[in-house]
Amino acid sequence: MKYRSTRSEETVNETYALLHGLASDGGLYVPAKFPERTITYDMVADASYQDIAYTVLQHFFPTFSEAALREMINAAYSKANFSTVDIAPLHSVLERLSVLELFHGRTQAFKDMALSLFPYLLVAAKEAEGETDEVLILTATSGDTGKAALEGFKDVDGTHIQIFYPTDGVSPMQQEQMQKQEGDNVNVTAIRGNFDDAQQFLKRLFVDKDMAAKVAAKGVRFSSANSINIGRLAPQVVYYVAAYAELVNQGAIHRDEAFNVVVPTGNFGNILAAYYAKKMGVPIGKLICASNRNNVLTDFFKTGTYDMNRQFYTTISPSMDILESSNFERFLYYVSGEDYELTNTRMKELKATGKLSVSGEELSRVQRDFSGQFISDEETKAVIAQVYNSYGYLLDPHTAVAMGAYMKELQAHPEDGSRHTVIAATAHPFKFPTPICEALEIQPGGTPYESLEHISAVTGVAFPKELAALQEKELRFTHVIDKELMGKEILSFVDTFGK
Ligand SMILES: *Cc1c(COP(=O)(O)O)cnc(C)c1O
Repeated sequence: MKYRSTRSEETVNETYALLHGLASDGGLYVPAKFPERTITYDMVADASYQDIAYTVLQHFFPTFSEAALREMINAAYSKANFSTVDIAPLHSVLERLSVLELFHGRTQAFKDMALSLFPYLLVAAKEAEGETDEVLILTATSGDTGKAALEGFKDVDGTHIQIFYPTDGVSPMQQEQMQKQEGDNVNVTAIRGNFDDAQQFLKRLFVDKDMAAKVAAKGVRFSSANSINIGRLAPQVVYYVAAYAELVNQGAIHRDEAFNVVVPTGNFGNILAAYYAKKMGVPIGKLICASNRNNVLTDFFKTGTYDMNRQFYTTISPSMDILESSNFERFLYYVSGEDYELTNTRMKELKATGKLSVSGEELSRVQRDFSGQFISDEETKAVIAQVYNSYGYLLDPHTAVAMGAYMKELQAHPEDGSRHTVIAATAHPFKFPTPICEALEIQPGGTPYESLEHISAVTGVAFPKELAALQEKELRFTHVIDKELMGKEILSFVDTFGK
């Protein structure tokens, strides 16, 4: 399949797009011809998660043979990598409300859904492209991507991975997970500042020709595991298709009945995947984009203006503390009717002024599919308590933001109550002990592990084994640098290769 840039006529094949991540004009790759209406219920009715993955992904990566793609899928969505055979179980909360649990992978966040498969796709793409250089994955993370990418790439031949995470925002468990990462090809560095600082700086290094030349001289090329890569996006479409099949199988909806989806959103990757699933034929009605106090997207869906000129807040849902939502550019491209010139102009405007607007006509089209809601930290904790007390179900803060957004949407549009709604649950609650203790008024412990013991004792939720095992592991990566030194950090890491 051909992929094209959102900003120009640049068109490449899928293995090139996988390997390079970002188009050379700074745009993002999108399918040149989208596989519209290629999925029906009959195709996925009784299929396993792995079979559904193949049904979906063959459209995005037709270069790979069926056997090769299935082998990658089976290795990624294996018993070793996921704690449940369902991979992404759908938990029914109420007659018209389900939670799609995307946190049963190795790092207890939905990032595992794509990052378990992505390294296989990347290595296959590298081979197909005849690329003999070693690949250095550079990734900025607001917490969950870093750990999931590290687990995905650890000790994968021909690859190295450098993760940058901000000192402000990540939870103590997320930090432990990264600081104690194992593997011989990994480096993890904390950056003073917030996620946007780290992400913006890294984007600049990524396209810096001088940097590229310096590492090329050592037989190394950069690639990214950030959610802009098509190899991150496409695997996320799969669980929305699987959720649809499961809803019909459970009798929650008829095969032609629309259901709504609520997604706790940061970089707009997860919700864009739901939009792709809808374009492929899944009967998704409304897509509700849930935000925390960093509500730039909520405002966009209300007004048609995306305005980053605002204060950045650190919240208890750190993976959503983002003002520059990187996959939003892909969405803008679709909003414009796949007009790359207009998208390019708008992205330039956003860069120059921190702000962009779509037309009134485009906004009304957007509002037919999308709606945005946000809630505060206080509201998030209240939702965690309410859902736990009413249904005995423990939400992590990100999923609680989605639940709270759903409640607000219902207040604004009570008619939505008759539609089945799926909430995307993006992290295991045990990644965020502090807000959970506060929400449920549980006595915190002296360490995050002790807090989690208390939470487990009160709620009966079992300690995920990977998190429990962390406690015994050694701290490996504890250094903190200023963002200006990120380039230097990368070069010193490259110097260690082969040593
Ligand atoms: C990454 C992440 C999000 C945001 O997902 P996007 O695809 O960036 O919108 C939400 N919740 C959790 C727990 C995450 O790790």
